[in-house]
Amino acid sequence: MITHKTRVLPERKRIALVAHDHKKEDLIDWAVYNKKILARHELYATGTTGRLVSQALDLPVHVFLSGPLGGDQQIGSLIAEGKIDLLIFFWDPMEAQPHDPDIKALLRLGVVWNLPIACDRATADFILTSPLFHDIYEVILPDYSAYTGRNTSR
Ligand code: PGA
Repeated sequence: MITHKTRVLPERKRIALVAHDHKKEDLIDWAVYNKKILARHELYATGTTGRLVSQALDLPVHVFLSGPLGGDQQIGSLIAEGKIDLLIFFWDPMEAQPHDPDIKALLRLGVVWNLPIACDRATADFILTSPLFHDIYEVILPDYSAYTGRNTSR
């Protein structure tokens, strides 16, 4: 019998918001449109995104450092600790970013832990309108036991 390790996402989700500069307007617009829903959850964000979202929604946001100064990494570490339930990350496909390795790391950790991730508005809409989003949801965690239990000594 296959047994999976799971992680339970609570009804009140911990949502991380990140938007690159040319995508901030998009994210704010989306957040304002969905304010009623977002108000029922706990919001986290990188520095500038968080300040703008908090002002626009008049809601509390846990604000980290600005992305290029370490904010992406701070959110990534929360994901690794199982403390973020959803990542809304509007990254800019049209402009190179100085913190490209951090962006890649953040997206990678999201996939490592089977986290729902929206990188554009359409996907964010699909997630927010999913019945799964509004309830307790059991995430099946990938099985890394073969990796963590590997013997590297020779
Ligand atoms: P910012 O960071 O919200 O501080 O602009 C976002 C990012 O570029 O990762």
